[in-house]
Amino acid sequence: MQTLRTIAEVRAAVHATRERGGTVGLVPTMGAFHEGHLSLMRAARAAHDLVVVSLFVNPTQFGPGEDLAAYPRDEQSDASLAEGAGTDILFAPPVDEVYPDGFATSIHVSGITDVLCGATRPGHFDGVATVVTKLFGIVAPDAAYFGQKDAQQILVVRRVVRDLDLPVQVVACPIVRERDGLAMSSRNAYLDAASRQRATALNRALGAAEAAVAAGHTTAAEVLGAARAELATSGIDPEYLELRSPDDLAEVDAVAPAALLAVAARVGAARLIDNRLLEASR
Ligand code: AMP
Repeated sequence: MQTLRTIAEVRAAVHATRERGGTVGLVPTMGAFHEGHLSLMRAARAAHDLVVVSLFVNPTQFGPGEDLAAYPRDEQSDASLAEGAGTDILFAPPVDEVYPDGFATSIHVSGITDVLCGATRPGHFDGVATVVTKLFGIVAPDAAYFGQKDAQQILVVRRVVRDLDLPVQVVACPIVRERDGLAMSSRNAYLDAASRQRATALNRALGAAEAAVAAGHTTAAEVLGAARAELATSGIDPEYLELRSPDDLAEVDAVAPAALLAVAARVGAARLIDNRLLEASR
């Protein structure tokens, strides 16, 4: 595996693969790798000749007062984990390589970014859409791999790709969880022991909603009530807990036939998100 810092070096490596007729898979990340990240790298490895992983804590997707400065960074450990998962190129640019002086462009996706995380993190998805579009321009991958953990992010990226006719296949990979069900996240590092324990309530809440649906209780009130009750047992008051269309995040009033249940909550020092696609049995 090579660690590259410049756009020119990445382009040269990709060009060499293309000359040989090879395909390229991209995994955009902010580092602090866990099994969730590694699952995306392995999926890319299984499908492509060249696997490029970007490691860039993107300042434009953090709002004022968010955790940009505190975000966990350990490039050495990340490099060895990425190599173990079959990565060929770790693209870890400095900020001014991505945002040189005079940088003035932003990609804004309207509508689907107004709700869920977009409602409480204004500008967040502009930062995501802009950096992902840049990475697509730099790497020109055949496919890019994202985790379903960030369900709204995948919808935003898919919309950019469709609206701007970008020739990239967006691949969504399943949420990887700890043994006790907590969705893996770089931000889990912020949790002390007590908060780490309470954080398991998010997955349990999604499970309670799923059980409600399986029992035929498919209205939004029933599904959200089941999830909210489970969160309450751990004293968690969510930032949002909502049932939305998996296609465009429109609010839905029932799981009919499917709906995305998404939750965000502050638990101790961390803001955590999780989600589940609920499907009503016919
Ligand atoms: P991040 O480094 O947090 O920006 O995440 C980079 C990519 O890894 C994103 O596409 C995330 O959705 C994905 N990811 C993060 N956590 C998980 C997880 N627990 N399971 C699957 N994918 C994940």
